[in-house]
Amino acid sequence: MEATVGVQMDQPLAFSSPRDPLQTDGLKKHEQNFKLPGVKKDIEKLYEAVPQLGNVFKIKDKIGEGTFSSVYLATAQLQVGPEEKIALKHLIPTSHPIRIAAELQCLTVAGGQDNVMGVKYCFRKNDHVVIAMPYLEHESFLDILNSLSFQEVREYMFNLFKALKRIHQFGIVHRDVKPSNFLYNRRLKKYALVDFGLAQGTHDTKIELLKFVQSETQQESCTQNKSHVIMGNKISLSGPASKELDQRSPTKTSVKRPYTNAQIQIKQGKDGKLIKQSKTVDVLSRKLATKKKTVSTKVITSGVVRKTGSSCPAALTCDCYATDKVCSICLSRRQQVAPRAGTPGFRAPEVLTKCPNQTTAIDMWSAGVIFLSLLSGRYPFYKASDDLTALAQIMTIRGSRETIQAAKTFGKSILCSKEVPAQDLRKLCERLRGIDSHTSKPTSATQSPTSPDKISEKTDHETSYLIQTPLAESSGNGLCKRDSNGCGSLFDECATNLEGWDEVPDEAYDLLDKLLDLNPASRITAEEALLHPFFKDMSL
Ligand code: ADP
Ligand code: MG
Ligand code: ZN
Repeated sequence: MEATVGVQMDQPLAFSSPRDPLQTDGLKKHEQNFKLPGVKKDIEKLYEAVPQLGNVFKIKDKIGEGTFSSVYLATAQLQVGPEEKIALKHLIPTSHPIRIAAELQCLTVAGGQDNVMGVKYCFRKNDHVVIAMPYLEHESFLDILNSLSFQEVREYMFNLFKALKRIHQFGIVHRDVKPSNFLYNRRLKKYALVDFGLAQGTHDTKIELLKFVQSETQQESCTQNKSHVIMGNKISLSGPASKELDQRSPTKTSVKRPYTNAQIQIKQGKDGKLIKQSKTVDVLSRKLATKKKTVSTKVITSGVVRKTGSSCPAALTCDCYATDKVCSICLSRRQQVAPRAGTPGFRAPEVLTKCPNQTTAIDMWSAGVIFLSLLSGRYPFYKASDDLTALAQIMTIRGSRETIQAAKTFGKSILCSKEVPAQDLRKLCERLRGIDSHTSKPTSATQSPTSPDKISEKTDHETSYLIQTPLAESSGNGLCKRDSNGCGSLFDECATNLEGWDEVPDEAYDLLDKLLDLNPASRITAEEALLHPFFKDMSL
């Protein structure tokens, strides 16, 4: 008889199924094998836009397409000997010139060693910029996630920290650490951190151009901060900000997602006024909504003093203070603007709550989220289309009280309608992975549709932010079945891959806990992580 683990509804799991077809970054594998007519056209257009490319490269295929760039595979005869494979990153012509120059400077100054991608050439014609990098063939994270051996996971994390240590030494905050930006060639055991398109500098960054990027953002955040002081004492955070100077929209993956959460979203209008918007809710979302527990959260900036002469109603505490509602006074306040680039599910709590002083610690949080995926076999782990949803999801793993406590240390106060306990990371990962630690057998941990929804929240849709924390839809049915017959992996290593998973050492969860430290000031650094006992027999 097969052992099945029924998942209790009061214990939130990962926020995605092990293999979610909606969650693919860039182009899918099967699309790379033949050239689509659209790809052919794009290649022709690129030759036209930057004709000098044609003198050097044969552009073969498109290997990545995002909102801000397209990446192509090309070959070139750069030196005597065999042709080299090159990745050509064509940046969208509307990118800010400083942004482009800063991305390039990160690659040239910090890149080329310690698993940080380097650069070979850069081409420009008019507003078209193409960065030529060594090509690293890599796996799709989702495809290999469930077939990685525990040792491979250790090596992956070690090499990620090596790259992060390198860039952090240069005062680079990557801001978009996630699997599709950390290339992994499993066969060659090669790794490369790519995509400095969102990078920012620390106050003492060694990347000159990042100082400019940083000061621009800070100026923006300063002006906005001033306006809070005038506007009032309490700022309610909203979902995706409509205004992000010098920053790319972080919703690359969420754009593709066909469903949205039922919630009221507040957007900032041109004149700084807040516009209330009702998001569309489709059928799927409605269905899911009935099964999900809802946690209502609100974030306020603490300790901001109201000044007289404000256009905002003069009241230090308003109708909604310390409630889970947002009153009309608060709806008229401006949003706080702080750097908040990145991908929602990988954002640290201080990014989600728009803390203006963000450090390299935000990349360590993102690395923690990757580690959580590797240990639990779930990717993406947090599936959120906006910041407050992401924050609510973090709370269900790390605990609401703990999150609120940590946010206080960086000047944010979070109001949460329900108290949710912190989860034991080992238990959580083992349950999601579907491995029964006693038998080492994969188990199916499917959510029972009849389970009672333990937390049901009375929420006023008119006035409050409704956060829905989706529960795991299913687990334990990844690509690799982990038995001798049912291996679905390209890598025929399933038999050995079980190795290590039945006895994951406590050090793994200790490191995970230190990466997912809600307080950025005490969160482990990349340098410290490399010295963590989890990596005891590994050398730099
Ligand atoms: P974007 O800003 O659009 O996300 P990235 O720099 O992350 O651009 O590149 C997008 C994708 O292109 C990556 O996820 C990766 O699959 C591929 N890619 C980028 N650089 C390289 C490279 N040097 N070698 C191989 N593939 C690359
Ligand atoms: Mg990228
Ligand atoms: Zn209020």
